[in-house]
Amino acid sequence: MTFTALVTERREDGGIANTVTHLEESALPEGNVLVGVEWAGFNYKDGLVLAGQGGLVRHYPHIGGVDFAGRVIESSDHRYHPGQAVVLTGWRVGEWHWGGFATRARVNADWLVPLPKKLSTRDAMVLGTAGLTAMLAVNRLKAEGVSPAGGPILVTGAGGGVGSISTLLLARLGYKVDAMSGRPELAGPLKALGATDVVGRDVLAPSGKKLLPTRWAGAIDSVGGAPLGELLKQINPGGCVASVGLAAGDSWDASVVPFILRGVTLAGIDSVMQPFAARVSAWDRLTSLFSPAVYHSMVREVSLAELPEIGNAILKGAIRGRVVCKPGA
Ligand code: NDP
Repeated sequence: MTFTALVTERREDGGIANTVTHLEESALPEGNVLVGVEWAGFNYKDGLVLAGQGGLVRHYPHIGGVDFAGRVIESSDHRYHPGQAVVLTGWRVGEWHWGGFATRARVNADWLVPLPKKLSTRDAMVLGTAGLTAMLAVNRLKAEGVSPAGGPILVTGAGGGVGSISTLLLARLGYKVDAMSGRPELAGPLKALGATDVVGRDVLAPSGKKLLPTRWAGAIDSVGGAPLGELLKQINPGGCVASVGLAAGDSWDASVVPFILRGVTLAGIDSVMQPFAARVSAWDRLTSLFSPAVYHSMVREVSLAELPEIGNAILKGAIRGRVVCKPGA
């Protein structure tokens, strides 16, 4: 039996080659569940992998794709049976282990969760790692005491995957959302997701100050870097910033002043190593809050062959919402 995959190889000159090809099923890595991949998502990390950046891949040739949804073909694990719909996010799949940019994936059962009944495999990947991460960030804000009554929430990188889904989820839960985007043309689509206001990146421009007037009760931050430093200076006393990503960088010139004078919390979110129960609970909550119809205009479907180009776009911050791929198309 053969399957189709986008194979990433490191060339002798150090460059990277991404080629759609057919492989024998026996080439798949070890694992106790064989899945027929119906849809794969596309994430920032996938962009890094296809460009050979970030040091994420251990061995070549490699198959990327950090998340996928599909149906079990074979399983030697009692929790999964042939035909069952499953979803996979994280656990270094698509990095250390072959991932979802293929019609077949063989994985460890512990990395899967059963797909919630109300969710199609396509919508599971419209959400994908971005949706799971957004849900974890929203849950964390609530756990830290940030309520809709406390004031607006800033979502940075709102035009991207995590940011756009965070905007939708927060709005559904009754929060006022200021969606920050460097793309003014996304103001309409972001308001359609439920953003109360759409603001430019200038709200987090360098200020040279240790504190600024307070503006937000909390934030979900995909961009990190210097803008995160400016964000912390504008959070209400007792507020919380859920730190998710590093689209603008992984470090900034930090000060403890927002923490010790305003009791601000900086909460880290890691979607990759979430245990089974936490993933199941987050997917259940996502299924009840997410509206595929509302999110429709933020989704693009592509083929395996188009993924390298999508990878270049995501690294430039130029992807709108989510990209999903049907490897068998
Ligand atoms: P996207 O590329 O879809 O979104 C990132 C968005 O950030 C862009 O669309 C853009 O939005 C904005 N942006 C890009 N560059 C800059 C910049 N230099 N300054 C300010 N804003 C910028 O990526 P994802 O949403 O999939 O992921 C977002 C981040 O979260 C990534 O860093 C990713 O690695 C990380 N991540 C972390 C996870 C975790 O478990 N912690 C899980 C998933 C992702 P706009 O144009 O609207 O401003």
